[in-house]
Amino acid sequence: MANDINRFQAIISHCKEYGFIFPSSEIYDGLQAVYDYGQMGVELKKNIKDYWWKSMTQLQDNIVGIDAAIFMHPTTWKASGHVDNFNDPMIDNKDSKKRYRVDHLIETFAEEQSATGNEQLAKEVLEQMDALLAKDDFAGLKKLIEDNKIKCAVSGTSNWTEIRQFNLMFSTEFGSTEASEIPPSGGGGANKVYLRPETAQGIFVNFLNVQKTGRMKIPFGIAQIGKAFRNEIVARQFIFRMREFEQMEMQFFIRPGSQKEWYEYWKEERMKWHLGLGIPKEKFRFHDHIKLAHYADAACDIEFEFPMGFKELEGIHSRTDFDLKNHQEYSKKKMQYFDNDMDSATGKAYGNYIPFVIETSIGLDRMFLAVISHAYEEQDLSTPDKPDSRAVLKLPAQLAPIKLAVLPLTKKDGLPEVAERIMSDCRPHFRCFYEEKDSIGKRYRRMDALGTPFCVTVDHQTLQDDTVTIRYRDTMQQERIPLDKVREIVMAAVQ
Ligand code: ATP
Repeated sequence: MANDINRFQAIISHCKEYGFIFPSSEIYDGLQAVYDYGQMGVELKKNIKDYWWKSMTQLQDNIVGIDAAIFMHPTTWKASGHVDNFNDPMIDNKDSKKRYRVDHLIETFAEEQSATGNEQLAKEVLEQMDALLAKDDFAGLKKLIEDNKIKCAVSGTSNWTEIRQFNLMFSTEFGSTEASEIPPSGGGGANKVYLRPETAQGIFVNFLNVQKTGRMKIPFGIAQIGKAFRNEIVARQFIFRMREFEQMEMQFFIRPGSQKEWYEYWKEERMKWHLGLGIPKEKFRFHDHIKLAHYADAACDIEFEFPMGFKELEGIHSRTDFDLKNHQEYSKKKMQYFDNDMDSATGKAYGNYIPFVIETSIGLDRMFLAVISHAYEEQDLSTPDKPDSRAVLKLPAQLAPIKLAVLPLTKKDGLPEVAERIMSDCRPHFRCFYEEKDSIGKRYRRMDALGTPFCVTVDHQTLQDDTVTIRYRDTMQQERIPLDKVREIVMAAVQ
């Protein structure tokens, strides 16, 4: 456990030191649970987005993408259930004034118990918690906390308030005048708008726009990548739980009654997507939800083994027709699809219906953390006469921020000119980096720390026989190859 915490700290420091992630507005001491992506982070994040987008849209004939606005008519959130139900139960410690999400408080207690060998108690407490949460039994949850003498980490006391609900949506004012600028449809009309807590609703309200203009036939999907905002009570664990984050979501519209089959299909597809990056399957597991969200008839998480243990990375939800039905009711606009395919059971066309939906929803930042934490390794390379070590990011080549570093051995003798030729050959195809400062060993180490899968070194022999040394990040092996093969080798690995 202590080692895992140290490893997590080392990853956070590495992200900062090498320009992946900075605390937001750091010169003002930061803003809790808000982070900025630096020059390397932005590339890795974009590559993860592209990998998801390609697999969800380009490689599917029946899924298209959209990019909906963050602001939506406030009635959207009434219809979706978020105004009334998007709450987390929380509890305050009266002595420290610290606020906890009830499930996190109990989970932390269970983790401590299992770390000290009390596996049985940990298991029982978690089972009781799941059952009580499923019934929204706050008195029972409070009793569970009291019976187990769960203490506040700050004050060390068990002096707790009652458990209350806390809505996680951020709100702001819309428009600059006193008079409302929001059309009063479905009971709107005030100036208050929300920052979307999920991207999914932008897809639901556009369901018919896309279906009609794209002439989509059920089953079909709509994918979206975008920012979401949640006023998390306990925002911690670096980019795992942020107040501003990005989601990559896909809503798949299907015939009512076919949801079980499509739910299983997307569970399997999404797991395949994760494994496609070469991360071992032991790092992932499914976790079925006991307490279902207000919109779901089945739901599970794909959990990943983060440095702090197995946690949710992606959710797969069978959302029924809950969202479309409610939007139809609140907006008074039909959200139905006309299906003229024959139902073999009745011999008639399926006709008009509100589609059911399977959702796959993954946090981009959580995926970033999964990828970088799996890739990070500290290696001891000491020999009997020389201590040595390296920090390396063994990122999948297609996600690495820089694919190729081109390194002339010296700054003179025409070597930079040859290096520049390689750069101009490769630059249009993938991200390259040119570096002539420092010893070659130091340059290799820096590229290892950034996760660059290939380095090529141009030396005096290059001038004679047009070969360069290629060095592979993971094995650190080096070999001589013809200069004109560089582009091909890198392209084969990064596509
Ligand atoms: P959790 O239980 O961890 O709060 P959730 O079940 O509320 O997550 P969903 O509403 O299913 O999450 O959101 C889908 C995905 O969005 C999650 O699997 C996660 O990857 C990501 N996500 C949700 N909340 C956050 C957050 N605060 N910061 C970063 N990513 C998040």
